[in-house]
Amino acid sequence: MDFIREVKGRADIVKVAEHYGIKLDRSYKCVCPFHKEKTASFSISPRKQIWHCFGCGKGGDSISLVSELLNINALEAAKNINYTLGLGLDAERPASYLEINKYKQKRKTEEMFKQWENKTFQLLCDYLHLLWRWEEEYAPKNPEEDISDLYVEAMHNKDYIDSLIDEIFINGSNEDKIWFWKYEKKVVKRIESRVRTFRSTNG
Ligand SMILES: [Zn+2]
Repeated sequence: MDFIREVKGRADIVKVAEHYGIKLDRSYKCVCPFHKEKTASFSISPRKQIWHCFGCGKGGDSISLVSELLNINALEAAKNINYTLGLGLDAERPASYLEINKYKQKRKTEEMFKQWENKTFQLLCDYLHLLWRWEEEYAPKNPEEDISDLYVEAMHNKDYIDSLIDEIFINGSNEDKIWFWKYEKKVVKRIESRVRTFRSTNG
């Protein structure tokens, strides 16, 4: 179809990707929007004007990128690109136009959630390492000795933190994480301030 070809010729795939909320790094890579992953295996070749994901194997041109993202057909995707990027080709306003804002909002929420997830995961790991260290360094050497508070804290929390990391952040579903985010804010806050206080007094 000439219209689709014309849109493809006018719209740079990098611009298209960015317009639809895909945040590429300097080597045109990012976390794949089509499958769940932690490291970036989605990449774009500006020279060849194609995209490819080494994780899930999907790939294509700028039109297929938008049609996959918005779940619409190729013609509708071309109309959508023409309209959003203001390419000026004569075509009616795409029916899917309203979907874009909803889609962008969804991407933004997902991105913020991802950041929260990474940050919280890191925090829990940092705290767990501290607990393990305290367990080792402050273990009582004889029955008469006063038991260190840090050792007591390690005894009370290490298994709990370990299971949070394992059950929620490593093996948990998205629902588990959302649940944790919703209902366990106080736990995270407490650990955050605990780690910060410990670090500022102990270097
Ligand atoms: Zn993928």
